[in-house]
Amino acid sequence: MKFKRVLVKLSGEALAGKQQRGFDHEVITGVAKQLKTLVDGGIEVAVVIGGGNFWRGRTSGDMDRTKADQIGMLATVMNAIYVADVCRSLGIATSVQTPFALGSMTDLFSKDKAVADFKAGKIVFFAGGTGHPFFSTDTGAALRGAEVEVDALFILLIYRITGCSVVILKMMLIRPSIKRSCSYVDSEYECISPVVLSNSIRLKASAKIASPSYRVKLSTIAKLSQESNCA
Ligand code: UDP
Repeated sequence: MKFKRVLVKLSGEALAGKQQRGFDHEVITGVAKQLKTLVDGGIEVAVVIGGGNFWRGRTSGDMDRTKADQIGMLATVMNAIYVADVCRSLGIATSVQTPFALGSMTDLFSKDKAVADFKAGKIVFFAGGTGHPFFSTDTGAALRGAEVEVDALFILLIYRITGCSVVILKMMLIRPSIKRSCSYVDSEYECISPVVLSNSIRLKASAKIASPSYRVKLSTIAKLSQESNCA
């Protein structure tokens, strides 16, 4: 199975490497190279990156949650700008879109512009999440994925278990026939967005994962965060 357009969502920590905070340039270059393999393979690529390598609103203590989440959303913008610039240095054209205006730093989210950018071979970064507090970038990824009609979402989660990073890939297929809703394959997900949980979609997804050509694709995308794994 060949996807035409995919959205890859990375935890902010996927950019942090061993120090688990901030940016690790080598790790980010590895991520950008993996994104390039997707683009070079003729796939249209959207990327959402979290902000957990800097800040998460929900772990900000006594701070006003709305303000804390605003900081989190800005952290996702910093991440997108960094990764987009490394992509640029590798020769991939990019654009960064946010749901709020940031002057000349980003473009305002527009489905039409995103689609034009995909067609032009650009990786489109959707930064700033949904633009609203109390949401996560996973929700933002589901929302943007549905809006720009990707064929699949790939969500790379990084869990810390006894100091090691474990990268878990979750794949959610978008049912092409449902234009306005995102058919999420994983029911354990927290998601407050136009998401339809569907067992039939889950079955179809399992069948597709089992096909050999699909396995190749998964392994390519899974490499995105391999640098964050414990040896
Ligand atoms: N955030 C938000 N609204 C959104 C998306 C993100 O307020 O629609 C804020 C929130 O504070 C969140 C932070 O941005 O904790 C970083 O996003 P996330 O926690 O999803 O990052 P990740 O865990 O994937 O690195």
